[in-house]
Parts: sequence; C-alpha cells; structure tokens
Amino acid sequence: MIAKIDSDICIGCGLCESICPEVYRMEEDKAVVYVTVVPADAEEACKKASDECPVTAITIE
Ligand code: SF4
Repeated sequence: MIAKIDSDICIGCGLCESICPEVYRMEEDKAVVYVTVVPADAEEACKKASDECPVTAITIE
C-alpha cells in the first residue's frame, strides 16, 4: 500500500501525523509521506488519516 499527499491541497492541519505518525509527518507547514511503502501494521491508521483529512489531500493506492 502506498500513500500520497497532494501538497497543493494540504492545509497543514497536522491531523494525519497525529493519527498515523508511522507514515505522515509535518515538514514546514505541510504534511509529507516519509515511507515508500506503508508498513502492514500501520495500514489501518494510514487509511483512517486519509478518510479524516479535512481537505481530502491523501490518496491511498
Ligand atoms: S490531514 Fe490532510 S490537510 Fe491535514 S496535514 Fe494531513 S494531509 Fe494535510
């Protein structure tokens, strides 16, 4: 599973990092995905962060 963030859409709220710090972290005023492949034990939290992103900036493949 791969997660991507559209940095043009991200408003830097920090929610994804707080839900799934194994995959997302804040850099400057935007969130980034810092793993190439989402670890199996972080998939559920990773999807939850995608679902709860207020501007739908996170896509999961
Ligand atoms: S939850 Fe969405 S808007 Fe908030 S920091 Fe993460 S990607 Fe950006």
